[in-house]
Formats: sequence, structure tokens, C-alpha cells
Amino acid sequence: QAKMDGRGSYRYYSDEFTRAARERIDLSARLRRAIEADALEVHYQPQYNVEDGRLLGAEALLRWTDPELGPISPGRFIPLAEQTGLIVELGGWVLRRVIEQGHRWRAAGYPPIRLAVNVSALQFQRVPIDQQVGQLLEDFEFPADQLELEITESALMADPSRARRILQRLRERGVHFAIDDFGTGYSSMAQLKRFPVDTLKIDKSFVDGLAEDDAAGSADDRSIARSIVGLGHGLGLTVLAEGVETAEQLAVLRELGCDHYQGFYASRPVPTLEFEALLTSAPGTPSP
Ligand code: C2E
Ligand code: MG
Ligand code: MG
Ligand code: MG
Repeated sequence: QAKMDGRGSYRYYSDEFTRAARERIDLSARLRRAIEADALEVHYQPQYNVEDGRLLGAEALLRWTDPELGPISPGRFIPLAEQTGLIVELGGWVLRRVIEQGHRWRAAGYPPIRLAVNVSALQFQRVPIDQQVGQLLEDFEFPADQLELEITESALMADPSRARRILQRLRERGVHFAIDDFGTGYSSMAQLKRFPVDTLKIDKSFVDGLAEDDAAGSADDRSIARSIVGLGHGLGLTVLAEGVETAEQLAVLRELGCDHYQGFYASRPVPTLEFEALLTSAPGTPSP
């Protein structure tokens, strides 16, 4: 149909296209500079035990504020970093930053918690993550079982036998694995049990409707959450709900037997110092 649009609209389309492309090039140049200048930050969102509210760990989440453009969300720059290949550097930067931070917290005498780091699909495919992570654990003398890597079903399914080998190697050292956004992908039970994973993270989209009395989707969301808990427990896995925003959602999750949760109800992702305050007030903490 493009021919029939006439010269004006073709040019318009072409200008739009150029503008979008230029914007992406500009943004990735800024991101590259931010990585080089160490100008990115990691925030930590605490994860809790559903039953007794104990603080168990935290998910590390990247934060980027460009000096001119302001804060840019990971939902925007992670896909861009994947398209440009920057994700390899970016992913390495996050792993190092988090493991280094974990080392500092240990040295300062904070109680042991598990730190979860997101690994993007492309990063998982491109980088020999087992070697990279193994090296960092040695460099910082960080206990492997205090590190959890979050991967998505699609990252595992792209090349299942390679994925299995990589997970196996890290699992032997003690590293934990969580499947992120579980329920939104395509893995079958048969495939799932062949990966050495520890945790299923119920995607926020199923948590949203959990406690809405008369919303059409809420019965569905409850059945889905119940199924994931059943599947996880059937395979001997821990089940964590993400994106818990209300006391009512938490109550339903408790009823369903969900093990762990994170979400704005308990805390947003917070900067390092704020997270230290949470760690300090957690029971069993010696005053540092
Ligand atoms: P994700 O790994 O599923 O992370 C959970 C996202 O949900 C985070 O968004 C978090 O801030 C948000 N969230 C947590 N609790 C709640 C809640 O109660 N309500 C709402 N509305 N949101 C909640 P964020 O930080 O914007 O990150 C978005 C996605 O970007 C992440 O999804 C992850 O896929 C990716 N990402 C973030 N940091 C990294 C990173 O360091 N490496 C990689 N590869 N990906 C990252
Ligand atoms: Mg995650
Ligand atoms: Mg998630
Ligand atoms: Mg998500």
C-alpha cells in the first residue's frame, strides 16, 4: 500500500522512522557513557517470608538517571541494550556491583540474605555466565548460595540443552536460580523439571487480580496462582509472588500456601543505604 500513500506520507513515515532511530542511537550512546562513568545505580527490593514476615533477601534492580533526560526505566533501556549488544557489558556491571555490595554487607556483619540478579535472555545466550559468575564469586569470596540468578522461561527455552549445562555448573557451586515472570512463557512441566531451578516467581499480572471480589478475572488469577504454587511445590520448588501491593493480596497468597513475596505493599526497590536500614532493623541483626 505504500505506493498509494503519495509522496507526502512516505516522507512523513521516513522522517518518523529516522527520528526514532536517531533517538535510539542517542539513548544507547548515553547508556554507554553511563556504564563507563559508573553512573548507574542498583536498587534493592526486599523479599519476605509470607508466613512470618521475615526478611529473606532482595532483588537487585538497575536504575539509570541521565543528567539531561532524567530517570529512564529499565523497561525502556534493557530492551535497547539487548538490541545493541550493550547488555553484555551492562549485565556484567550489575553482577559485579551486586556481588561486591553483598561482600561489603557480609564484611560489615549484616545477617546473611540472598541477593537476586536479573539475567536477560540475550546476556544468557551471549555470555558464558557460568565462568563470569564463578570468577566474581571467587574475586569477592562471596558464598554462592547467597546469590540467585533470575532468568525467564524464554531464555531457557532458546537453547534448552546449553541452558541446562550452564545452570547445572552453577548449581553445583551452590548458586540458586529463579524463573522470572513465571506463567507468561511456554515451559511445560516436563521441561521445567529438567532444569535445576529453586524458585518460581509468579508474575505480577496474576497477583494483580487476586483479591478483587467481583472482578471477572480474579477467579482466573486465583486459579493460576494456585496452580503455580501446586506445580512449584510438586517439584520441590519455592514459590515467590511478585508485585504484591495490598494486604488483601498477601492474605490470599498466604491461603494458597505461597512461600515468599515482594512488592510495594512491603517496600519499593530502595537505594543501598535505605536497604541497609531495613537490614539493620531485621530481627537477629547485630548493630554494626
Ligand atoms: P522484573 O525482574 O520482573 O522486576 C520486577 C519489576 O516490578 C521491577 O520493575 C519492580 O520495580 C516492579 N515491582 C515490584 N513490586 C511492584 C509492585 O508492587 N507494583 C508494581 N507496579 N511494580 C512492582 P523495574 O525495576 O522497572 O524493572 C522492570 C524490568 O526490567 C525487570 O522486571 C527486569 O526484567 C528488567 N530489569 C531491571 N533491572 C535489571 C537488571 O539489572 N538486569 C536485567 N537484565 N534486567 C533488569
Ligand atoms: Mg526479576
Ligand atoms: Mg518478574
Ligand atoms: Mg516482569
